[in-house]
Amino acid sequence: MPESVNHLSQIIEEMRARMHDTALDKQTLVDPELLEKSRKLDRLINLYHRINRSGSRGEEIILELTLDQNMEVIEMSAVGKKIGAAKIELVVGDITLQDTDAIVNAANNRLAPGGGVSGAIHRAAGPGLWEECRKLGGCATGEAKITGGHNLKARHVIHTVGPVYSGSPGDPVQLGNCYRNSLQLALQNGLKTIAFPSISTGIFGYPVDKAAAVALQAVRDFLAQHSGIELVRFVLFSESDFEVYSSALSKLA
Ligand code: ADP
Repeated sequence: MPESVNHLSQIIEEMRARMHDTALDKQTLVDPELLEKSRKLDRLINLYHRINRSGSRGEEIILELTLDQNMEVIEMSAVGKKIGAAKIELVVGDITLQDTDAIVNAANNRLAPGGGVSGAIHRAAGPGLWEECRKLGGCATGEAKITGGHNLKARHVIHTVGPVYSGSPGDPVQLGNCYRNSLQLALQNGLKTIAFPSISTGIFGYPVDKAAAVALQAVRDFLAQHSGIELVRFVLFSESDFEVYSSALSKLA
């Protein structure tokens, strides 16, 4: 049975030791898969220590590892931070599959299906979502609008329009507004859990490292100032985006 482990740096250290022992037992020290896991674990341990060192506001690091029954296969399920009663979580995954109260759509100004995250959400939700969206009169950049989830597991979709990256000082303001306005809308609707994709970093061309810093800062500040939201999950589509967001989380001011 897979088992989730939280907050236990000692267990991670122990797992690493066991993994190396296993490798030696089986004479598979050069197994590239095992080496990759070992490197990933090293990065995680570094991240853990960095975030813990920077945890001056009593914010607590969260690491969830999925292990098999022999505790041999190690996979990172989530990394995150506690902000008061709320949690920011980073995962690799598909936004359309999330069972949070709301998922956020990186939408366009017309709220039309389009490509990227928006296309995926509209396909998974079914045509009812576009029927509902088309009556909303579009959405300005940085603003957010809410609809039902239709065929999705999430009961609601919050549509927000990120900026097309231009390198101007307005970019981070608008991107931050997307996160703030989406969270505000979630609060107004009594929603407690929400999943975001990496807004603007696909077709809209926002560099992921810059976007991650803006996104995490906006969410952290919002959670520090408002109560009611319990979970904000960032669903990153690739391991490399996950790494960038993890690193940005560890550097939060
Ligand atoms: P934008 O137009 O705001 O840039 P995109 O939809 O083009 O939005 O992409 C935003 C990010 O979402 C990109 O990093 C992209 O890889 C990622 N993405 C695409 N599909 C999904 C999905 N199903 N779940 C989560 N993230 C996704």
